[in-house]
Amino acid sequence: MKQTYRDEWRVLVTIKPRRPADLGLTGLDELAEFVAVPGPITVVVLPRRLGNLGFASMSDSLASRDVEGDYRRRCDELAAELRQRPQVDEVTVTCTETHTCSHCGLRWEELTADEAADPESRLDEHSVEGEPVCCEAAIAEFRTERGIPPEGAVEDSGEATGPATAIRVEPTDSGWRVRWRRGGRRRSKTLTTRRDAEQYARYVAEGGESS
Ligand SMILES: [Zn+2]
Repeated sequence: MKQTYRDEWRVLVTIKPRRPADLGLTGLDELAEFVAVPGPITVVVLPRRLGNLGFASMSDSLASRDVEGDYRRRCDELAAELRQRPQVDEVTVTCTETHTCSHCGLRWEELTADEAADPESRLDEHSVEGEPVCCEAAIAEFRTERGIPPEGAVEDSGEATGPATAIRVEPTDSGWRVRWRRGGRRRSKTLTTRRDAEQYARYVAEGGESS
């Protein structure tokens, strides 16, 4: 299943300075009145690391049981504080989201509607938009949830010739497996490293191992 990790929390602040002191240029009030800013100034404010306790430093996961939630709360607090400043125009809390597969740990990827309709890229005729592509476990889970027949429900047919389609590389307990289809037949080969498996997948894509 798709797992989402959020990190790189930050607060984007757009500043509209009116006086030099709004930019930290203090002590000029008797001589200066305004600052002219050609466009919006946006700065990125990073929250203090959860593990930075001031008197000691440790990893975030040691300092917090809910790293994601604590960073979000810290940024919200920071944003609320910044919104009260007169020179602050706009404040947004943002983060980076990464999606990975809970089964294999690879980056989460799904078939698009076009890919699901294309025999070259889909797994079989039961593939639909949104089907994961990373590993057998994720595909099986997706299909079970939606009542879609599992991969392999259709018998092999025809000769194992023609172009290789639905080429997948996935981790196994003992290495990396390359899977593909050719002429309705499912094929696979297990290699030791991901690099070897990816190289082999390219070889298959280019027409290698065709008999
Ligand atoms: Zn997976």
